Amino acid sequence: MSSNHSVLSEPEFEQAVHEIESTLAPLFKEQPELERAFKVLQVPERVLQFRVVWEDDKGNCHVNRGYRVQFSSVLGPYKGGLRLHPSVNLSILKFLGFEQIFKNALTGLHMGGGKGGCDFDPKGKSDNEIRRFCYAFMKELARHIGPNTDVPAGDIGVGGREVAYMFGAYKALRNEWSGILTGKGYDFGGSKIRPEATGYGLVYYSTHLLREFHGQDWQGKRVALSGSGNVAQYAALKVIELGGIVVSLSDSRGALIATGSAGFTADLVAKIGELKLKGGYLVDLGELEGFKYLAGQRPWTQFKNLDVALPSATQNEISGEEAKFLVEAGVLVVAEGSNMGSTQEAIDVFEAARASGKGVNGNAPVTYGPGKAANCGGVAVSGLEMAQNSQRIQWTEAEVDDKLKNIMEDCYNICFATAKRYAKEGEIPSIVQGANIAGFLKVATAARQTGDW
Ligand code: GLU
Repeated sequence: MSSNHSVLSEPEFEQAVHEIESTLAPLFKEQPELERAFKVLQVPERVLQFRVVWEDDKGNCHVNRGYRVQFSSVLGPYKGGLRLHPSVNLSILKFLGFEQIFKNALTGLHMGGGKGGCDFDPKGKSDNEIRRFCYAFMKELARHIGPNTDVPAGDIGVGGREVAYMFGAYKALRNEWSGILTGKGYDFGGSKIRPEATGYGLVYYSTHLLREFHGQDWQGKRVALSGSGNVAQYAALKVIELGGIVVSLSDSRGALIATGSAGFTADLVAKIGELKLKGGYLVDLGELEGFKYLAGQRPWTQFKNLDVALPSATQNEISGEEAKFLVEAGVLVVAEGSNMGSTQEAIDVFEAARASGKGVNGNAPVTYGPGKAANCGGVAVSGLEMAQNSQRIQWTEAEVDDKLKNIMEDCYNICFATAKRYAKEGEIPSIVQGANIAGFLKVATAARQTGDW
């Protein structure tokens, strides 16, 4: 099949495509025509690029680049977050949108895949500047989205405040109240548990990995987390609730490491949450007893023994070297709260350990849970928010949490069953292979049935 491939370099997107493709060989051997589907699906259905002009508090005019990648609508309306960060470019949004297609498929809900954002830096901006930016961004985006077309949400740099401003802008521009954007405030159509969903879901998914591959629960487990945003905070709180010990959090400036045996308390995590809402950094906490702050560092090489690692900051945040360190520290589970948290080199290290069948201290080897499965709880509760909006109802916290648990269990089950089916004789099944094959097969099959290829 011929295609005129773009000559532009898109390193993050190419990495994401390669990561999935490298696990699909046994499927292609069984069904060679699916190689064609993979070529089709890696071209977005539509890419929108637009300028965003906004005014700062002094009346100065600024221009930024806005994007929405509408990658695949085969399973449902395009669905995926908006990222506001100076690093945002088309390569990053295409990688995120591509991952989102298969992640959304693994939730079992009817959502296609998309992603968007802008190279605007929300750090240090006033509330009024954020509002003006959000309205300016939505001025263009509004004409391309809708509750049955494309439903954005948050991602890095976009939390409840930004979603609310964008929702307000859309409502004003279209003169309609609809279930557009997820992650809304509860009083205007949001879902209970949406802020917590990615972090909680990550821990629920990891619970299955710990139990099924290692016969263990969270009690007394030493858990390293990176990041200190929404995902990391709620993952940390859930780990603490389940009896685990959180030994690190981090941000773009450095890592906070627990030196004693106690780890982070729920109060400290809550305090960090408040600090982050105000745009602060971990370094602003000052000296804390039982902790050390390491400027410019990530937590992965700080522990001689560690049970679980939950990268929850951003892409490529575990290098091959750091992965080796984690394996040597005896880590049982690495599960990603971030999208593509591990570099390909790191995945190769985890997967080689799995294939060897040997862990540290007589334990089973590390189990690697990729983001597209382990962090699908966020978008899953977004899907539940869409369902509630369509019915004009709101479920209770317990109802949403129950549904989230079931979705994470189903996601684990489909990943594991697929992994088992394609595992080499005598080898421990690969969850990353299971997730990739299960997600891709569902999308490719629906795409064929609806006449896409
Ligand atoms: N940004 C989140 C993700 O990476 C959530 C997307 C959504 O809720 O639409 O899955």
